[in-house]
Amino acid sequence: MRSIFTVIFLLLIITLTVCSFMARRSPRAIGSSVAALIGTLTLPLTGNLLIVASTSALLPTVGYYVYFLGMDFVVLTLIHFTFRYCGLSWSKKWMRDLVLAIVFLDIAQYVANPFLGQAFGTECIIVEGYPYYRLVPHLGQAFHRVLDYGILAAVILIFAYKTFRSARIDSEKYSVIFITLVLFSLWQTFFIFSRTPVDRSMIGFAFFGLLIYYFALHYRPMRLLDSMLAGIASDMSESLYFFDASGQCIWANPSGLDLAGITDKELEQVPKKLTSLFGICELREDGSVKKIIGIGEDAKYYVLERRVIKDENGRTAGSFLSVRDNTEEQRQFRQELYNTTHDTLTGLHTREYLYHEVRELFLENPEETYMVIFVDVRGFKIVNDVFGSAFGDYAIQRIAEWIQSSLCKRGVCGRIAGDTFGVCIPVNEFDPHCVEQDLSNFEVKKNHLSHHVLVHLGIYVVTEKDLDVSVMFDRAHLALSSIKEDYQKHVAYYDDAMRSKALWDQKISAQLRDAIATKQLRPYLQPIVDLTGTVVGAEALVRWLHPEHGFLSPGTFIPVFEKNGMISEIDRYMWRCACELLARWKNTSLFLSVNISPRDFYFMDVPEELKNLVKEFGIEPARLRIEITETVMMTDVEKRMEIFHDLKRAGFIVEMDDFGSGYSSLNLLKDMPVDVLKIDMMFLSKSRNEYKAKTIVQNIIHLSDELGIGSLTEGVETPNQYQILSDMGCKLFQGYYFAKPMPVEDFEKYVFPDKAVS
Ligand code: C2E
Ligand code: CA
Ligand code: CA
Repeated sequence: MRSIFTVIFLLLIITLTVCSFMARRSPRAIGSSVAALIGTLTLPLTGNLLIVASTSALLPTVGYYVYFLGMDFVVLTLIHFTFRYCGLSWSKKWMRDLVLAIVFLDIAQYVANPFLGQAFGTECIIVEGYPYYRLVPHLGQAFHRVLDYGILAAVILIFAYKTFRSARIDSEKYSVIFITLVLFSLWQTFFIFSRTPVDRSMIGFAFFGLLIYYFALHYRPMRLLDSMLAGIASDMSESLYFFDASGQCIWANPSGLDLAGITDKELEQVPKKLTSLFGICELREDGSVKKIIGIGEDAKYYVLERRVIKDENGRTAGSFLSVRDNTEEQRQFRQELYNTTHDTLTGLHTREYLYHEVRELFLENPEETYMVIFVDVRGFKIVNDVFGSAFGDYAIQRIAEWIQSSLCKRGVCGRIAGDTFGVCIPVNEFDPHCVEQDLSNFEVKKNHLSHHVLVHLGIYVVTEKDLDVSVMFDRAHLALSSIKEDYQKHVAYYDDAMRSKALWDQKISAQLRDAIATKQLRPYLQPIVDLTGTVVGAEALVRWLHPEHGFLSPGTFIPVFEKNGMISEIDRYMWRCACELLARWKNTSLFLSVNISPRDFYFMDVPEELKNLVKEFGIEPARLRIEITETVMMTDVEKRMEIFHDLKRAGFIVEMDDFGSGYSSLNLLKDMPVDVLKIDMMFLSKSRNEYKAKTIVQNIIHLSDELGIGSLTEGVETPNQYQILSDMGCKLFQGYYFAKPMPVEDFEKYVFPDKAVS
């Protein structure tokens, strides 16, 4: 019998040691406390092993010491485990110290026992024919028992309290330990009072350790788990339904019951209700579906997710459906989509979205012929500046409305930029007559303000559908450039000539600087003669000897550079050339007239530039004549007037070019500090009424005489014209009759036939 116990104790010690080792490696926080508790439990077991297995006097005595001291350590690790497991902490530090002190006092009394013998002794009895050393407790042993059982009782009480007072889902975790402790205590008590010769209570201790190991580390409290899952599922805003294999609903959370409009007693109605709500009843497939219920403002969006639950053999055990209301997300998504694809002011498509929609339109109706229209509001900046941006916004909205309601009845339209819009419609939808009528009188009225807005349309009939949509709109935009701001015509169509023209403009603009540097651009001189026919000066006119396109007259490139402002670079160059020539002809009285474009005033300080030039070349300012056209005076009159005064003060002679061809205002002459009127014969030659033309020229010459202004007639082509103009009192003449514009060398030969000029 004793040998059986020896084997049992040995096995239990090994098992507990292994469990302690595994508990230490457990990822759970409580692992180290469990390891300590069952690790210390091996000590009293070892003590008991020695007592049971030995027949000599010494080993059982050592065994008793190992046993009692071991129990003291067990008490300490049990307290530690209990506190950790129950989430307690010492409210007062001294209480912990007191418990420690008592335990150490007990340890001390065992240390003193060999000398004082106050705790216990042993007596030899014969069990199964062999000596067995039984414990003879003394007074000190009572202290040990009170301590051990007191602490054990306290621990049981703590677990009892936790079991009965915790929330239901928690109590299971405490109750298993509580029951283990009670059972162990009963077992222990039984052996204390039965006084069987061999103490077997340690078997109970060992099982207690193993149960703690299992319950604290490996047992998953199912009820806790169930209640937790059910709690979470109940609180979820999603509607959840669980079905058994036959499709019967076995559980639904409150949100699910709400959505189906039933109580938890009517779960059998769930499949029917869901079918009528969402039109689905087939739950045997995994996957998600999006559903809309309700139409219009109240439309609600739901995302339904179905999962089939299989058992370990792959058989369908049931299924699960979650229904999530995603109306708000959908609303936000739609709003964001709308915001990124629609212009806030007009509600029309943004440029990118318009281009996308145009593409879609072409794909939808590949047979249809479309046109893209570029809508431009002319001078819109002025509307904003004069009437304020609120009126400007209002005007943009009215134009957008017109586009939507009249122009783009069947097609797509959008706002391309501030005051430009884009439209794409089938060609046969466009009614030019109606559009012209609408645009000829497009008035925007707000409160007491009203403004006639000039709207122009450039149209590209889409002949190449493969083109980038942006290129199509570029073409439509290009068409706009052919519309003059004359309020007569509001619509222009793109043609390939426009494209070639745009390409040409681009090409020569890119080449200009290089052309100046390499002297492809050069002055041609057209002589100016006096009454006797003597050459007194010349007008410098630019020519481009293009390496690829040959001789280019100013008509082919001046307007391009007038438009993009690069004209000032040509003029600056031409003035310098003129000054160089005048410096070369310093011993003569010849003058040179140079042209000044109205655009020059935007890009440079014209008087300053000219003053510096004459200074640099050391020439008299009066020999450099400045030709300006009346158009210069159309804006900034005061400032421009000052500029001319400045030029005159510096000694330059100012000529008014093309007088009579533009919006001549005789009134201007009163204040304009001009020295010479350059009368354009060409405008007269076009006149059918020669008599009237003559009278006008006659009067201009008289008028200039009266005002003390000199006169020069250009465009003189016949001896007859020369004669008549001379008779009228004109002093200077220029025209093909005398000579065409010619290269500098030719001019020099023409004027100085005998001498070479150096
Ligand atoms: P513009 O200043 O009025 O120059 C006179 C134009 O009339 C010149 O044309 C000249 O060749 C032409 N012309 C002269 N006499 C006759 C004639 O008897 N009959 C006819 N039919 N035409 C005659 P061009 O050289 O082609 O210049 C055209 C315009 O280009 C000039 O008109 C001027 O406005 C501009 N331009 C020429 N060179 C320059 C320049 O260096 N700078 C600026 N800003 N503009 C220039
Ligand atoms: Ca001129
Ligand atoms: Ca002229």
